[in-house]
Amino acid sequence: MSVLVVGTVAFDSIETPFGSAERILGGSASYFALGASFFAPVRIVGVIGEDFPQDYLDLFTQRKIDIDGIEREKGDTFHWRGRYHEDINLRDTVELHLNVLAGFEPKLPERYRDAEYVFLGNIDPVMQLEVLNQLRRMKLVACDTMDHWIRESNEELKKVLKRIEVLVINDSEARLLSGYDNIVKAARAILKMGPKMILVKRGEYGVLQFSDSSVFATPAYPLEQVFDPTGAGDSFAGGFMGHLARSGDQSQGGLRRAIVYGSVVASFTVEDFGVKRLTDVSLAEIEERYQRFVELTDFHS
Ligand code: AMP
Repeated sequence: MSVLVVGTVAFDSIETPFGSAERILGGSASYFALGASFFAPVRIVGVIGEDFPQDYLDLFTQRKIDIDGIEREKGDTFHWRGRYHEDINLRDTVELHLNVLAGFEPKLPERYRDAEYVFLGNIDPVMQLEVLNQLRRMKLVACDTMDHWIRESNEELKKVLKRIEVLVINDSEARLLSGYDNIVKAARAILKMGPKMILVKRGEYGVLQFSDSSVFATPAYPLEQVFDPTGAGDSFAGGFMGHLARSGDQSQGGLRRAIVYGSVVASFTVEDFGVKRLTDVSLAEIEERYQRFVELTDFHS
């Protein structure tokens, strides 16, 4: 089964305590697509400007990612500049240029409209709704969002939440969306807004999964050095959805395994700048780290 993603395809300029990079490939859809591509065919819906280099598009096609849904418009590509603190869990957005993303109206190629596994990456909820309205037979729709949309487009976001199965969200965003400081209360309140499942991303502390019937916790894979956390959340979602599309297993166990695959993919992403590690890691390395993850969390055998 293939996975469809809509989100940003971007230039990122990044500064971390370990170095910096200018206008490298980034964006929520890019990280998601590369993360999911280890497990399943991926299709991207997004927009780029005239300045977007062919080399970056080639990175997608080399991983067999379908980019027919990426539209090239007059103007410049979305550009984000972020700076991480000494405490790498903290980052500031220094610049944000929407450019061609402003006013983007996603139009899905006809053959994308039967997509069953769908990820609505972090973009305007109005665009997320436009994508949902063009789909015919979704099996599993997951969605990400951020503080900006929670504050500025709350009503549209709530409409999206009514139509999805899985919300992937940071802990601070879960608090903002629900109005509760306690993360369990926050998750319970968000479950009432529509999603059947919430995945709360907690950076180096891992992921918490909440549904009406269960709670599951997994740590992040312990790494000696994190170079650049950008894209950890999106590539986590990519690994999670990609594995679900590969396995077709949405049982409680299947969902938990998908969460661990997502965590493994994210752990590779942060080992180097931008998408670099994601483009050179192999599926064999991913499977091996998955096994190490099983050992890491085994306390019962
Ligand atoms: P993550 O680190 O997983 O939260 O996502 C980082 C990616 O989000 C970067 O590659 C940015 O290009 C992208 N990004 C940053 N700000 C925004 C925004 N306001 N809307 C959409 N995507 C964004």
